[in-house]
Amino acid sequence: MAKATTTSKATTGLSPSTTQRYHYDIYAILEGTQEMYFGEEVAINVNLVEKVKVPRSAPNGQGFQEIDKCYISPTKRRGVERRTLIWAPMKAGILLGDHEQCGIPGTCSRQECPICCVYGALQPKEDISLIGRLTHGGGVAIQPLLPEVKQRAMHPSVMTRVEGVTPMPYRREYNEPALLYPVYNHCLSITEQEFESVAYAFLNALSRIGAGNPKGVRIADGLLLEENEPLLVVDRYLAPLGKRPTISPQEINPNVALDRFRDSAFFVFGERQNSEVIDRGVAFTRWIGDQAMQRLQQYCLDFTQRVLL
Ligand SMILES: [Zn+2]
Repeated sequence: MAKATTTSKATTGLSPSTTQRYHYDIYAILEGTQEMYFGEEVAINVNLVEKVKVPRSAPNGQGFQEIDKCYISPTKRRGVERRTLIWAPMKAGILLGDHEQCGIPGTCSRQECPICCVYGALQPKEDISLIGRLTHGGGVAIQPLLPEVKQRAMHPSVMTRVEGVTPMPYRREYNEPALLYPVYNHCLSITEQEFESVAYAFLNALSRIGAGNPKGVRIADGLLLEENEPLLVVDRYLAPLGKRPTISPQEINPNVALDRFRDSAFFVFGERQNSEVIDRGVAFTRWIGDQAMQRLQQYCLDFTQRVLL
């Protein structure tokens, strides 16, 4: 029988923190500001975007139907965010990744690294693995609008024109503009300082989501306490007291989805709230709409001043 261990070495591999750790969640509804490409595979002469099949209750209530929806895959969003940190400009023209000697795939795996501390890292040769404590979810579009195929003049792999050779036209699918994508970032047991990296990457990555050109999404606006607020919720908690403002992938009506998002955002510990900051102390705090945006921006500013400048 195994003896009870008497060492104080953390079984998680994480060094103890001198400050309180929390769980954090970011819930947002993103909107494509133009057509967007996030590739999945190449069929015969067509670059396809990533889609998912969603089983949905049939309108007559009997059985299921299957619908295709466009998708911003959480793993791709994670990659864009991580690169945003690697490419973050520091003073004197140095990039954060170069400063920390941390890149893709050559992660540095140090707990002090402002990138690896939340995104995690793996160095198989040296048998080092640092658990990623930030996970990404959601991304299934609300509207079941299939991608549009467009013709482009030259294949992207043809980098230089060879004389006498006509450039190959190619076709590419695009996610239509104005698709809405509910997305979620969850952080497990991180400090407030570590969350600054997450906030910086999340907000800065918005204009870089997508592959090739064009790219970019915005945080959609809608009615929360007031009209035209960003559809954004940030939770910092030990106890998950709030209803999670997630949208079922089965939902196809944007108005219904936005109503659900708002109802859940203001529903905490069994009661409907009427404030955009719901503060239950260390156990649970939620920021909604404009307050959530300002909170994320404050974390971005703190990150910039502490790490980059
Ligand atoms: Zn690193």
